[in-house]
Amino acid sequence: MTQVLISPSEVMQVLAETEAIREGHFKLPTGEHTNYYFQMPLALRYFNYARRLSVGLSRLLRLVPQISARLPKVSIVGASTGGIPVAYGVREALQAEQIMWAEGGRDGALHFRQYDEVKPGENCVLVDDLILSGRTMKSLIQLVKNAGGKVLAIGVIIDPSLAKTDFGDIPFVKLAEVPTLHFPNGEACTLCKDKGKPTVVDW
Ligand SMILES: [Zn+2]
Repeated sequence: MTQVLISPSEVMQVLAETEAIREGHFKLPTGEHTNYYFQMPLALRYFNYARRLSVGLSRLLRLVPQISARLPKVSIVGASTGGIPVAYGVREALQAEQIMWAEGGRDGALHFRQYDEVKPGENCVLVDDLILSGRTMKSLIQLVKNAGGKVLAIGVIIDPSLAKTDFGDIPFVKLAEVPTLHFPNGEACTLCKDKGKPTVVDW
């Protein structure tokens, strides 16, 4: 049994207590209908919860040989602004060298701030609070690779398994998986049948 500071059920308890997870019938901006809606900043706004969650994630990341062999010469890279608190917590626990994060620009493409770029040969661990379609994470992988960096592993706090995201041979760890119903474009949504109209939510 892997020793972590926080078990998946404790993670779920934190999310429920802070209302970072809601159960019902939701329509996401992508058009998908789901039975869970996550708003992770509601949990991460509490420093102690943010620390427990990210330290728990760091324990899993430390078990990835590609990471442990290279510490502390590793950069922790947040895939979104939601990943920033996670990146800080993971960096502290791993004593990694530095933190970076990508953001969506005006054109919608993911980018680093000017002059704040991954350097050729830089070893990167990519983190986020939540993974949905995996599109943002895949853009970040490309961004890091285009700069000549190496992606050692990916870590997220919650994986609602919406897309069963496949990152090929890159190790992918998550603190908790939440099996979630998922109906692309609301087609054949059983929740529509049982619960009527979905609540329209933003990210
Ligand atoms: Zn529905």
